[in-house]
Amino acid sequence: MRVLAIASEMHPLIKTGGLADVVGALPGALAHHGWQVTTLIPGYPTVMKRIAPEGGATLRTAKRYPALFGANARVVRVNHEGRDLLVLDAPALFDREGGPYLDMAGHDWSDNWRRYAALSAVGADLAAGGLRHFRPDIVHAHDWQAALTLAYLRHGRAPHVPGVLTIHNLAFQGRFDAHLFGALGLPHEAWSVEGVEYYGGVGYLKAGLQYADAITTVSPSYAREIRTGEWGMGLDGLLRERGDALHGIVNGIDTEEWNPATDPALAARFTVDSLSARKRNRAAIETSFGLDSDDSFLVMVVSRLTWQKGLDVLANRIDAIAAMGIRVALLGSGDAALEGQFLAAASRHRGRIGVRLAYDEPAAHLLQGGADAIIIPSRTEPCGLTQLYGLRYGCVPIVARTGGLADTVIDANEAALGAGVATGLQFGPLSPDSLLDVLARAQTLHRDTATWEAMQRAGMAADFSWDRSAARYASLFAQLVKAKRGGAAMDETAR
Ligand code: ADP
Repeated sequence: MRVLAIASEMHPLIKTGGLADVVGALPGALAHHGWQVTTLIPGYPTVMKRIAPEGGATLRTAKRYPALFGANARVVRVNHEGRDLLVLDAPALFDREGGPYLDMAGHDWSDNWRRYAALSAVGADLAAGGLRHFRPDIVHAHDWQAALTLAYLRHGRAPHVPGVLTIHNLAFQGRFDAHLFGALGLPHEAWSVEGVEYYGGVGYLKAGLQYADAITTVSPSYAREIRTGEWGMGLDGLLRERGDALHGIVNGIDTEEWNPATDPALAARFTVDSLSARKRNRAAIETSFGLDSDDSFLVMVVSRLTWQKGLDVLANRIDAIAAMGIRVALLGSGDAALEGQFLAAASRHRGRIGVRLAYDEPAAHLLQGGADAIIIPSRTEPCGLTQLYGLRYGCVPIVARTGGLADTVIDANEAALGAGVATGLQFGPLSPDSLLDVLARAQTLHRDTATWEAMQRAGMAADFSWDRSAARYASLFAQLVKAKRGGAAMDETAR
């Protein structure tokens, strides 16, 4: 059975967040359940360079689109590190300096509507048999950038191919002005509340939610939260309406990529039986983040610096945290104001607060392998991956009680500590006081070495491999294919 996945990011080719990790890891995991995944991604410069270091001319063109939303485009098919890829090579849309979604000044690309409508239109064409010898049984669209695929599919040549939409973050919705509807190439009937119309504009994610046969999101708690007015971000009504089709499937992690026993980014590799080797990683962190070398509690952050992640609360209490004798190593980038606040804190507390404003994959691994704890004070968190990496690396997660964070970390309350099952600390609701309280609680627990190590061991023993979650996707896919085929057969009989 074959899946066509469509996404705007895929690790290791292009990544701004957890979406890429999931899109990169799911194909390998689904293969064990009998599903072959082919993934369509945009040909950003980094992607083109990685798949054809000597220039795109050497790539085999699978299909040409001479006038794709006004752009000359082609799809190339490559196998990259075991992943079957279709890359949309459309220089006018994707070959530019800057990020996938933002220009160098940090503003959304003004033609994002066109770029991701093009990706989605090609996705629907390929799903409908646009490529010879390629007949996917199901389409899996990720987030708003791919969501319109499902609209093109329903209004196009292959309405019978089932479509699944996965929401990785409901905050990003792809909302555009109503006047763009005419340029999307969808039939007039798609302009309705049951189609792409969303509060008087065009909503890509909204359209996907409407047209998908099934909707998944990345944790059970988030699946419940987004049906509420507080976290539904304008879509809670539709999500309640589609409640029967909405499933929460927690993300797994790539346990080869994130394996402390083999990780090349670590100064010292370790297993649950050699936790003391983590000290060498800690020393490497101290050096690279300019921190004092001592035995005090070392808490780290690896994150986008945004309001969603709650790091403004941490920044506002950083003096109090330093006064508690806690060291902080922070790796991240994002909001300019937050970046400035953390840099200022680092210069006020030399040796105690170390900040690197960068996106640095190996450094993220090293922090997990050497810090005592990772703090994740998110206001909302669909799943969160960094706490899962923390669990696997003996870097105890301290997490806000929300979304996937609440679903994956077992709080060190008396009962859980007594039973030896605690894997981290939860706190909430997020406030300056609750943040300082949980850090004090963690610092006290950390002083009790036996208890702390028991938590590290319990976290490292937890299974967050993709296997269980991939099995859930596989069974959902199988159900949908069966239901659609049954429906199609009944249509035939009726004719
Ligand atoms: P989100 O997708 O909301 O950003 P997740 O926790 O799901 O949050 O995934 C974040 C991913 O991005 C993780 O793999 C994390 O290690 C990585 N990451 C975030 N910031 C950085 C950074 N500055 N440098 C390296 N990796 C980072």
